[in-house]
Amino acid sequence: MIRSETEVTLGRLLRAVERLHSLQPGGLTVLDAPVVAEVRVSSSNQPADQVPNAALWFHDGRVGMDVTPALLGLSQVEIEFALAHELGHAVSAREIQRSDLRAESVSTASEEVLADLGAAQILRESGRSWAEITSALDGGNLTDADWSGNHPPGEVRKGFLRLFESRLAEGRTAAESVHEVCTIAESALAKRSSAADLLHVLNSIPRSGPEPGGPPTIDDLAGLEDAVHEAAEALVRTREPLRESRGNGAPDPRSPRRDRVDGRSDVDDVGTERDREELRTRAREVRERERRERDRRDRERQRPTEGW
Ligand SMILES: [Zn+2]
Repeated sequence: MIRSETEVTLGRLLRAVERLHSLQPGGLTVLDAPVVAEVRVSSSNQPADQVPNAALWFHDGRVGMDVTPALLGLSQVEIEFALAHELGHAVSAREIQRSDLRAESVSTASEEVLADLGAAQILRESGRSWAEITSALDGGNLTDADWSGNHPPGEVRKGFLRLFESRLAEGRTAAESVHEVCTIAESALAKRSSAADLLHVLNSIPRSGPEPGGPPTIDDLAGLEDAVHEAAEALVRTREPLRESRGNGAPDPRSPRRDRVDGRSDVDDVGTERDREELRTRAREVRERERRERDRRDRERQRPTEGW
């Protein structure tokens, strides 16, 4: 696929996101910056470019997509999955809120599962079948057999997608299914067990079990917003790649994303210092706005109830 075709594909996926989340055309934003159907192909000739990969980038007040030349050599559905996974990160704050998850219960590894669930919904909305969606992970072009940084092994990611598919087939809503799959991912992935052990856990989960006990609740909305925005900020600043880049100086797979990325040598090609400064300013503004909003809500809650 050439760059212009990839932009057409990205535009189509963005429309799917807008339908799924009832947004105006062009309404998807990350830290108030619009996500646009703009694709840049990296051309640094570094080993990382030989690996199919995609990442969101922030530049001149908008968010687009970086892809490696190797990604464009893959099949249509693999490219779509890679783009949709990144858009899945861009909507994960919305998914967390919609599915009544607590942001603290979505750590870096389950964040990747959440992005995959977002990707699956985007691809379903754009007309892909479940078989096509999971087939994108079959060839091992987009995932690794073992853990890759925060990214669980490919078969495990596919296992979570299948569990999600089966819950939807059982008639659960997308929000309920996201809640359940992410909660399972959070506890299952915490120990970074091997692919075989994780698949064993996944396969032992009943697929047509009894009704869950009542709707989930939001315990701590304030913490959720902070954590979500911190994640969003880290996401854009660090380009949150589809998976770890391999090759020279492979990062410690267990180190937190922030540490790992701060040491990246290619961070300079992400955007100018002005872009990064703007991003920091935006993050501060968004946090400040939300703090005010939270205070307002708190005051409202404390106000004595008027007569019935
Ligand atoms: Zn990711």
